[in-house]
Amino acid sequence: MSDYSLLINGDLIRTKDSFPVINPANGEVFARAPECSIEQVNQAVEAAEQAFPAWKSDIAKRKEALMAMANAIQANSERIAEVLTLEQGKPLSQSKMEIMGSVMQIQLSANLTMPVEVVQDSPKGLLEVHRKPYGVVATITPWNFPVSIAMGKVATALISGNTVILKPSPFTPLSTLLVAEAVQSALPPGVLNIISGSDPLGSHLTAHPSVRKIDFTGSVNTGKKVAAAAAPDLKRITLELGGNDAAIVLSDVNVKQVAKSLFWGAFTNSGQVCIAAKRVYAHESVYSNLVEAMAEMASKTSVGDGMVEGNRLGPINNKPQFDRVRELVNDARNNGATIVTGGDQLSDNGYCFANTIITDVDDSTRIVAEEQFGPVLPILSFSDTDEAITRANNTNYGLGGSVWSGDIDKATEVAQQLECGTAWVNQHLALNPMVPFGGSKWSGIGYINGRWGVEGSTEIQVINVKRA
Ligand code: NAD
Repeated sequence: MSDYSLLINGDLIRTKDSFPVINPANGEVFARAPECSIEQVNQAVEAAEQAFPAWKSDIAKRKEALMAMANAIQANSERIAEVLTLEQGKPLSQSKMEIMGSVMQIQLSANLTMPVEVVQDSPKGLLEVHRKPYGVVATITPWNFPVSIAMGKVATALISGNTVILKPSPFTPLSTLLVAEAVQSALPPGVLNIISGSDPLGSHLTAHPSVRKIDFTGSVNTGKKVAAAAAPDLKRITLELGGNDAAIVLSDVNVKQVAKSLFWGAFTNSGQVCIAAKRVYAHESVYSNLVEAMAEMASKTSVGDGMVEGNRLGPINNKPQFDRVRELVNDARNNGATIVTGGDQLSDNGYCFANTIITDVDDSTRIVAEEQFGPVLPILSFSDTDEAITRANNTNYGLGGSVWSGDIDKATEVAQQLECGTAWVNQHLALNPMVPFGGSKWSGIGYINGRWGVEGSTEIQVINVKRA
């Protein structure tokens, strides 16, 4: 039995079945989460369907309810942050930032509007473009930023007039379920339903005939399954998927400064960020100095239990991911790579992995070619900028990328040649909740945030009136 509840039709519901949630800092089960039954998912979808007509018809009420939702989360932020660290692993200070960032995201979304665009208003006729919500939206989220990814999506879907069923990752369900408890009375029953369970719950949701849109963040492999599940019913999809961001470091940089900033662009959240820098191409003239400076940053940055003050990075979130990172590092090692620093787990318990810098790999080495999603960074060298651009683009991923240089104009020109949704200059990872975010190629379909998020949460209706 779990101490946590699902939120269905405004009620907090206990379930018969539950599943274990592990603290990645020690590998031990610390709580159980409710396993939502198929009957309960169906009830959640039905509740969302019933709540839709009233919810979509009053934007002032939606705005008010979203502000109440933000306040309710803020009032419970300490408790949610603690549980987030216990289940996800990140340092408590970063969990607090994630929760407060979510509150801000909801407040910003509450002020989004859906203006009617007038194409023609003349004695002959009136032509207007309206935006209409889809109806029931299924929101499915991963384990790296469980609360902020979920709240960004949910807030945009709700302010646009949709109703939502939210399903968090089974590795990190509890912080989202605490959000459910917090917001229970802030929203009308059925407008937001939160359910937890294993992966098949996600596939049941994506196949449900009453779900009109799926807003998914997760891996490319699951994203393709979601797209396939949506196809028979032509459900609309937004897919925010994996990345393998390249960072290109040109010859004219201040190496020490770049190393400091690029390190956090790669290792924030222990590398478990879709838009983390995951491979570096450094000009041959700065290569050795950059490797040395990055290795110094990596070895001096403390990794450990996120509940222990002073640890700046936490463990890898879960055992399958931990095993995958270790496998990719060992594959590189077995194929002649040099492990400059790190290279293995930090203790026998839990999933803490040393910050790792790798050299002597090529573009086909798995740690370079695949998304590793962990605290590991391969650094490769190049001699010609065009060659670096070609190598950065030679992938099915296209989420983010960055260019580092003392010459901002030159770097911006190079950034424009990267095939990705966001290209940074002299930074990596910087996001703005009001700026569109999405990926090209296999990294996604559609955009979230700001008016682009509203556009993704709505469809167009043209009103065409003949006056004369
Ligand atoms: P995942 O694809 O394994 O799981 C994501 C979610 O999908 C979970 O809630 C899971 O239960 C659910 N799910 C699993 N199978 C499903 C199915 N068949 N149908 C419907 N839902 C299903 O991803 P993960 O391991 O939780 O997250 C890590 C991945 O997410 C990385 O690849 C990372 O790059 C990506 N990610 C992308 C972004 C972005 O904005 N582009 C942000 C964060 C993470």
